[in-house]
Amino acid sequence: MDLKTGRLYWPATYKEPQAYPSVEADLECDVVIIGAGVSGACTAYELKDTGLDVIVIDKRTVAAGSSSANTGLLQFSNDQLLFEAIRSFGEKAAVDHYWRCYDAISRLRDEIVPSLSVDPDLIMRDSLFFASNEEEKEVVEQEYQALKKAGFDATYLEPDEMEKWVPFKRPAAMLTKGDAEVNPYKLTYGLIQAAADSGVRIFEQTEVFLKKADDEGVLLRTEGGYIIKAKKAIFSQGYETQETVKEKNAVIESSYAIVTNQLKDLSFWKDNVMIWESARPYFYARSTADGRIVMGGLDERTSDPDKRDQMIVSKRKQLLAEIESWFPQLKGEVQADFEWSGSFAHMHDGQPVIGQYDRVPNSYFLLGYGGNGIVYSLFLSKLIARHLMGEKDEAFSFYSHERVYETT
Ligand SMILES: Cc1cc2nc3c(=O)[nH]c(=O)nc-3n(C[C@H](O)[C@H](O)[C@H](O)COP(=O)(O)OP(=O)(O)OC[C@H]3O[C@@H](n4cnc5c(N)ncnc54)[C@H](O)[C@@H]3O)c2cc1C
Repeated sequence: MDLKTGRLYWPATYKEPQAYPSVEADLECDVVIIGAGVSGACTAYELKDTGLDVIVIDKRTVAAGSSSANTGLLQFSNDQLLFEAIRSFGEKAAVDHYWRCYDAISRLRDEIVPSLSVDPDLIMRDSLFFASNEEEKEVVEQEYQALKKAGFDATYLEPDEMEKWVPFKRPAAMLTKGDAEVNPYKLTYGLIQAAADSGVRIFEQTEVFLKKADDEGVLLRTEGGYIIKAKKAIFSQGYETQETVKEKNAVIESSYAIVTNQLKDLSFWKDNVMIWESARPYFYARSTADGRIVMGGLDERTSDPDKRDQMIVSKRKQLLAEIESWFPQLKGEVQADFEWSGSFAHMHDGQPVIGQYDRVPNSYFLLGYGGNGIVYSLFLSKLIARHLMGEKDEAFSFYSHERVYETT
């Protein structure tokens, strides 16, 4: 699958990453993880100290799939807002899900990042969510009420208060605490390196195909004809997992992003809060460690990479125009040093999925689809690792592909 096209920013920030060998022999292990994007990397990290013999295999290099095309905003708020999720899944399930996202970011900061030898430029940032127009004011109000009731740190901002954070006003806004920005490429390399240091075997440039899965375990075949025999398999192939097993709840669309030139002065953007809005699709922005602006959005309902890529130039112009409308100080100063399009998947019901399909026994499918893909991968990988080790977690069934929700 053609996952992305264009000039990517993150690989330019980490020019000499660790290389890993390709598979050149038959292999046996307890667990094989297919995919070394952020999902596979998180899973390898979770399993690294379990005593299991674990292998990770990627057909590209580490982080060369969607994980190099994402914009690295880590937010506990989802594309499906909390008050909407409560309507769909009931209050307890929705609030628990939001806290799971929040806790995943906190754990990344407190536990995971300090243990990595590659610094992923994680910076905790507040998020500013604004009403795109007068009619959407109600959306911000409802979301603010839902977040406050659930115990999150949220502050409602009138237009004049919003202007203290960014140089533009909208009918209403809200500031939330607990989010972060990260370099997703370095994060993935850091997690993989930590796993490798603990004995997980990492392989790149090796495409694998599912040959057989039964009660005995899983057999994979590499493109070079080698066989990999595992007791369990975890498919974390990102959006390409749909080529192994099609999940009926998944929808693939397209998204766009640019990264500007380095800008001398961003002081008009207080604390470089991460910005997003209530419109769908929405614009969003963050800054980078080297003083650039990342702006993304303008999603299109096409899964066709040719159609997706034909729009890169016009999307770049629209994204630049939006930056100039948010930050008029930058008129004539900003250009896109990097620009790309990417395929992007989400679930019909807005929640990520752990697939366990009868036709593929002894296997898990980590489908962290949605705008919070990294956050989802962080906690889905932990849920899968715990399940695999025989530990019970009631959250596991909430993410099952067979889920049935009890709404109130
Ligand atoms: C433009 C854009 C912006 C985004 N912004 C954000 C954001 O701000 N925050 C956020 O949380 N998420 C964001 N996302 C989503 C995020 O990128 C994804 O959720 C995340 O990267 C998925 O990681 P993954 O490891 O599941 O997939 P991938 O990174 O695609 O990794 C899967 C890996 O599996 C490998 N693979 C596939 N098939 C095989 C096979 N048969 N054999 C061997 N290897 C195989 C691939 O080569 C690939 O490396 C964004 C996505 C896009 C496109």
